Amino acid sequence: MIYDFIVIGAGMAGASAAFELAKDGNVLVIEAESQPGYHSTGRSAALFTRNYGTELVRNINALSEHFFRSPPEDFTDIPLLSPRGALTISGPGEEAKLDAVLDLSTNQNPIIEMAVEDAISMVPFLRPDRVSRAIYEVGVTDIQVAALLQSYLKGTKKRGADIVTNEPVSALSQVDGMWIVNTRKNTYQAKTIINAAGAWADEIGALAGATRIGLVAKRRTAIIIDAPSDCDTDSLPCVDFVSSEAYIKPEAGKLMVSPGDATPTPPQDVQPDEMDVAVLADWIERETRIPIRRISHSWAGLRSFVSDENPVVGYDPVVPNFVWHVGQGGFGIMMAPALARAIAAICFERQLPADFVASGIVAADLGVSRLN
Ligand SMILES: Cc1cc2nc3c(=O)[nH]c(=O)nc-3n(C[C@H](O)[C@H](O)[C@H](O)COP(=O)(O)OP(=O)(O)OC[C@H]3O[C@@H](n4cnc5c(N)ncnc54)[C@H](O)[C@@H]3O)c2cc1C
Repeated sequence: MIYDFIVIGAGMAGASAAFELAKDGNVLVIEAESQPGYHSTGRSAALFTRNYGTELVRNINALSEHFFRSPPEDFTDIPLLSPRGALTISGPGEEAKLDAVLDLSTNQNPIIEMAVEDAISMVPFLRPDRVSRAIYEVGVTDIQVAALLQSYLKGTKKRGADIVTNEPVSALSQVDGMWIVNTRKNTYQAKTIINAAGAWADEIGALAGATRIGLVAKRRTAIIIDAPSDCDTDSLPCVDFVSSEAYIKPEAGKLMVSPGDATPTPPQDVQPDEMDVAVLADWIERETRIPIRRISHSWAGLRSFVSDENPVVGYDPVVPNFVWHVGQGGFGIMMAPALARAIAAICFERQLPADFVASGIVAADLGVSRLN
């Protein structure tokens, strides 16, 4: 069988791209792990924050929202977004840092100044002496990441695609214009390769003979702790601390806390650094009223960026029929629905979707050549 597309990687990028490509092409998804979503996708904070990232990323986030709120029929039985809200606070002497966040406020997605007392009654674990200014963004929501990924994979299969797991791609070659893809177990053929290998994308590019795009994977740590007994986690917002980049987010009746770290790390099954976890626990006890009795769970994940922190979606300028779908950084879940539509348009040589055009996004903004 010769596939139109082989998608390498079944994280959110690969699964969403495969779903859109399978509408008009025959697709094989090849995943190295036994479980799709095992790497970055399964380790995210699961937030949809329209006002997060570069200007281009924020535009793409907005273009995803319609899919999240009104997915195709039969895609999923549950709502993909649920209300959360985000409070951003500064400590004494750092009030001006909130101005840049407030500047992102729009009519559709307002960010408002909030009295410090109101912020503290909204989030009882804050220490009054550590909060000097607060702003609130109502439009931030939780994303049901596992349901989204499974729905993309299920929908992709329903459209006739094949998905194989536990098969790391180990070699790529082109014979008479056709890609030959080798894994430990099998050899596959396709007209076009979609590189959605997350942190490993430059390694896959090298197998194909492409120039590296300078992807840097950055480790981010998270822990789960119990919420104080006077906090109702269902109604708590996510809390961002501008002074330190740390954030605290309710998660299934407990609290997820991340220091917001970004440590360059080679692609791997990344684990949390014990020292980072210890420093984080100390920070929580100093900056909040949350008593840490035990850390239920800790993990780390990789967020992969190119130099301008925008995603890379497009054909390699030199290697024929090799398409990059990478560099989603810390926004890859929320950008997935929009970027998947973009990659399908690019692969089928159509114009970018009308909402991209209306937002002023052109293919070159996403393409590889901008990086040279
Ligand atoms: C702590 C943390 C918090 C985050 N919070 C958010 C958030 O709130 N909202 C948001 O939108 N984003 C968030 N992100 C970012 C988001 O998780 C990523 O942008 C997204 O998951 C990237 O998806 P991906 O498919 O590119 O990567 P991955 O999920 O890593 O998928 C890549 C896949 O490629 C496979 N692969 C690699 N090499 C091969 C090979 N040789 N053969 C076959 N398969 C291969 C891997 O096994 C992997 O499954 C967060 C990330 C982290 C780490």
